[in-house]
Amino acid sequence: MTTAFYPGSFDPITNGHLDIVKRASSIFEKLIIGVYDIPQKSLLFSAAERVELARKAVVDYKNVQVTSYSGITVEFARKAGAQVLVRGLRASSDFEREFEMALMNKKLAPDIELVCFMANLRYQFLSSSLLKEIINLGGNLDDMMPAHVSAALNNKLLP
Ligand code: ADP
Repeated sequence: MTTAFYPGSFDPITNGHLDIVKRASSIFEKLIIGVYDIPQKSLLFSAAERVELARKAVVDYKNVQVTSYSGITVEFARKAGAQVLVRGLRASSDFEREFEMALMNKKLAPDIELVCFMANLRYQFLSSSLLKEIINLGGNLDDMMPAHVSAALNNKLLP
């Protein structure tokens, strides 16, 4: 059985993330979404809120779990029983950073393989930070995230 670990900030989870979840969970027997719990990073939602939003978004996937974690990603992935790390790649913006991280992860954990999924054309330009920026300015991006995420964002950002 192959278990994959999909790490990220998920601040909040978007349809771009969920497209990767759908595709990865159809290939791997088990997929664990790992929500970084890093106090230094300035994020809108707490780790508990990000986990909750992600859990609600993947409730229909029987082989997908969500957990928060801190520390070194590959070490946590290994402890969770994963053999594979999953990441999503958007055109141009992600490659260099992902390549650098992949090489460092390989040095730390040669036994863990990285599988990158090319972002869906519909979500190439979608990032959690851009989403927050637009919602903050009163824009509507309801087709880019689940309804409960949109409600949570509106609650946090709009008066
Ligand atoms: P991080 O802080 O690790 O970049 P993110 O939550 O921004 O955390 O992203 C987690 C993973 O999901 C990364 O591999 C990122 O490239 C991928 N990702 C983010 N947005 C999208 C999207 N719109 N389409 C596909 N993959 C995405």
